[in-house]
Amino acid sequence: MPNNQDKTTPDVTVLGNGIVGLACAYALVEDGHRVTVVDRGPVDSGTSTGNAGAIAVAEMIPIAEPGIWKRIPAMLWDPLGPLYLRIAHLPKLLPWFYRFMQACRAEDHHKGVSALAGLLSRSMETHLALLQRLGAQDMLRRNGTLFVYRSEEAFNAEAHHWQARKDHGIDVQRLDRDGILEHEPALGPEARLGYFTPDWAHYRDPKELVTLLADHLRERGVNFERAQVTGLETGDGGVKALIADGGKRIAIERLVICAGAWSGRLSRELGDPFPIEADRGYNTTLPDPGVDIRHMITFAEDSFVMTPMRMGLRIGGSVEMGGLEAGPNYQRSKALVSLAKRYVPDLRTEGGTEWMGHRPGTPDSVPVISASPHAKNVYYAFGHGHLGLTMSIVTGRLMADLIAGRDPGLDMAPYRIDRYR
Ligand SMILES: Cc1cc2nc3c(=O)[nH]c(=O)nc-3n(C[C@H](O)[C@H](O)[C@H](O)COP(=O)(O)OP(=O)(O)OC[C@H]3O[C@@H](n4cnc5c(N)ncnc54)[C@H](O)[C@@H]3O)c2cc1C
Repeated sequence: MPNNQDKTTPDVTVLGNGIVGLACAYALVEDGHRVTVVDRGPVDSGTSTGNAGAIAVAEMIPIAEPGIWKRIPAMLWDPLGPLYLRIAHLPKLLPWFYRFMQACRAEDHHKGVSALAGLLSRSMETHLALLQRLGAQDMLRRNGTLFVYRSEEAFNAEAHHWQARKDHGIDVQRLDRDGILEHEPALGPEARLGYFTPDWAHYRDPKELVTLLADHLRERGVNFERAQVTGLETGDGGVKALIADGGKRIAIERLVICAGAWSGRLSRELGDPFPIEADRGYNTTLPDPGVDIRHMITFAEDSFVMTPMRMGLRIGGSVEMGGLEAGPNYQRSKALVSLAKRYVPDLRTEGGTEWMGHRPGTPDSVPVISASPHAKNVYYAFGHGHLGLTMSIVTGRLMADLIAGRDPGLDMAPYRIDRYR
């Protein structure tokens, strides 16, 4: 295994040890850089460790789409509904929301679909290559996914999403009630119509992936530093050092900011403001669900998912625009479990572990993968929203291409940090 001690390439510091930071570190080590990963927390905590585990290659439809504004009043008034805006956070949310509404225009929406599809079309192959390198192919379950609907009305209303998925080469199979039962006999009568796509896969435990990847990077000489970064020392047109709690100074040659939902504070300091918001999601992992759920399942009308994992059945979802500071409201996790019981009548709901994570949400659902236009040695990889696990490894590769000055084989304009200027 090559060690990352090659001094013909610059040293790179990656801020953030979530899956996007680790993926960037991995691709940079492959390119021969000496890499340091800085984070305030341990690798086995945070948003990248507790998610639903999907390699969601079919999810190229941005949340912002024409007509979504009709649903917004209901979001404000149902605190346990699938989408919720915390009223106290509304004033801070306005700049983001303005861009979100712009992203709902048909033309912008279609641009978002293409930008996401560009990353998703490379996602599976990059995960498979990584897993082969780690010798961990068994961590990924490649048995596809089901989307189920209670009503024909909702099923028909989303027909255009499914057409878009097909247009982007996703294998989509329509299911009636019998078809659903063939795949998932534990689903009760509420699951009436659906789709199956074999292209999708899920990790049996996202924390296992993150931990194994970090161990692999340590073995290859990557230095992991624990520090809460509070500021940036700038000069000569770039960043010279990270300033951390207690006045610690971490010198920088090149910096990649992968700080998830917290990235906006740092990019603003460098003259690269970007509207990023914490899109808070919840789940509960049931250790003994008492039913045999074989695939990851999305319950379309109620906007939640179910993933069979090695430690139990994970039931989660929810979009709560509530900022970075407010504590979790686990009533939302409980509400999702109650909904799940509606679809899976025999589900045993005792003994669950509740969790909340901060998805880094951009207004157009498209991540930032970009050099800084203002700081010459700074790069950004953040804002992967609901698809951070899915798009992480391809993001790392694109970042390595940007730093090496290689052609990434993809138009990078949609992912630029200054795309809203
Ligand atoms: C309920 C839920 C389900 C999800 N399901 C899926 C799924 O099935 N598939 C999928 O692809 N995605 C899913 N996601 C999304 C995915 O989890 C995220 O997009 C992804 O984890 C983001 O990774 P990241 O590395 O960008 O950010 P993070 O994992 O948040 O990492 C950012 C890191 O930066 C560090 N940091 C920030 N600021 C500082 C600072 N100033 N100093 C030091 N350290 C700092 C933080 O400590 C953190 O460790 C889900 C998310 C949630 C909440």
